[in-house]
Amino acid sequence: MNTNSKKQSLNTCSIIALGTELTRGIVQDKHTVFLSQELRKLGITVKKVIFLPDEYDLIKEELQRAVIENNIVILSGGLGPTSDDLTREIVADVAKVKQEFCESAWDKIKIKSWGKSIPESNKKQAYIPSGFTCLDNSRGTACGFIGKIDDTEVIVLPGPPVELQRMFLDSVVPALRCSSQSQASEELVCSAYMVSESYLEDTFQKVKVRDVLLQTRLAQDRVVCTLYNGTKELRAKTFTGLQDILGEIRFRKGDRSLPESVLELLIKKNKLIVFAESCTGGLLSTWITDIPGSSQGFWGSFITYSNEAKINMLGVDPALIRENGAVSEQVVSAMAQNALSNSKGDISIAVSGIAGPEGGSEEKPVGTVWIAVRTKTGINMVKRFHFYGTRDVVRKKTGVVCFFFAESALLGNNVLDIPAKW
Ligand code: ATP
Ligand code: MG
Repeated sequence: MNTNSKKQSLNTCSIIALGTELTRGIVQDKHTVFLSQELRKLGITVKKVIFLPDEYDLIKEELQRAVIENNIVILSGGLGPTSDDLTREIVADVAKVKQEFCESAWDKIKIKSWGKSIPESNKKQAYIPSGFTCLDNSRGTACGFIGKIDDTEVIVLPGPPVELQRMFLDSVVPALRCSSQSQASEELVCSAYMVSESYLEDTFQKVKVRDVLLQTRLAQDRVVCTLYNGTKELRAKTFTGLQDILGEIRFRKGDRSLPESVLELLIKKNKLIVFAESCTGGLLSTWITDIPGSSQGFWGSFITYSNEAKINMLGVDPALIRENGAVSEQVVSAMAQNALSNSKGDISIAVSGIAGPEGGSEEKPVGTVWIAVRTKTGINMVKRFHFYGTRDVVRKKTGVVCFFFAESALLGNNVLDIPAKW
């Protein structure tokens, strides 16, 4: 590709993450996800993400190529004082300039040394390629730098993630905003629950409005969808079209997990939730306690996996289990009722099912799950579900429905119109 064809495709970027520890799998990369997300917000398309070991010739070759192919190139790492930190030398080499001493970078290094003598090797960190501008590092010693090679913006950031992220947000984003040739792409982010990505894609194809595109990502309890391209009106029309088919419960604006929505409701209404978990074995509790601040809305759980635990911990009548089995309307209702009376919870969710792969019968096949919700205000819902999939999938689907039950009850609804089989 020549410089001319590069200029036709505006605002493209290559990210080159440097470090032998990355290519040897010692350190897990944290830069490229962060940078790609932030660049996207600026309307900049990341064309390539490259990981390279600390090898001079390899880095030089890739940098030369990236400069020809893109308007923006971001390099991360290799700015430290040690001999494997080669980035400033290579950038100067490719730019065909010398390195020059940067007074402001040196001043910062002196301030951060707190009056102690500074090792000679640290002095190296005050040099940047001639013609480049120093980027302040508020979290560490090595400054970054930004400048042009030919007409490509080359941005060099330090390796430690906290340093890179702070520097990018504080110094690089404003610089790129100024020089960016296109507006930040606008998008509509939504969440779809109880649907597969492929079903969502098919539904999207049915309602698709001119120019609008769909991107999906699988999250813990939902499919996160981004509607992009087209105008704001066209994206809104596509959203409405999808919601008409999937329903307001299953398709919503925003990127939020159900446990987050439920916890927010609990806190807002000053209520506590309690779980009585059998086949989920603590999954509901994990999902809610993954959220910081969950103690404000979560009382705790009874993880009653065995019949004995249901009897001893929750006081379920053994006769109920004997007559109906543990996976039954009667037992799950008793679990929800007793979880409420044995705790300070205002709302309880109880679940009992057969996650498989073993343990099913003709009457209660694998995937059969009873879920009950009860509140102190008198809401009482219980429903039988059949979830298709592996053990893991059955448990996840159970988790999703449990949080839907909780949300619905907290909103004062006594019915929940969701499919019983999926
Ligand atoms: P230092 O002054 O600490 O040497 P540096 O700019 O030279 O910083 P590197 O030496 O490449 O950067 O990396 C420093 C540390 O930052 C690494 O040990 C690693 O823990 C972390 N790091 C570097 N690159 C990445 C990355 N892509 N993702 C996550 N962590 C990284
Ligand atoms: Mg280093």
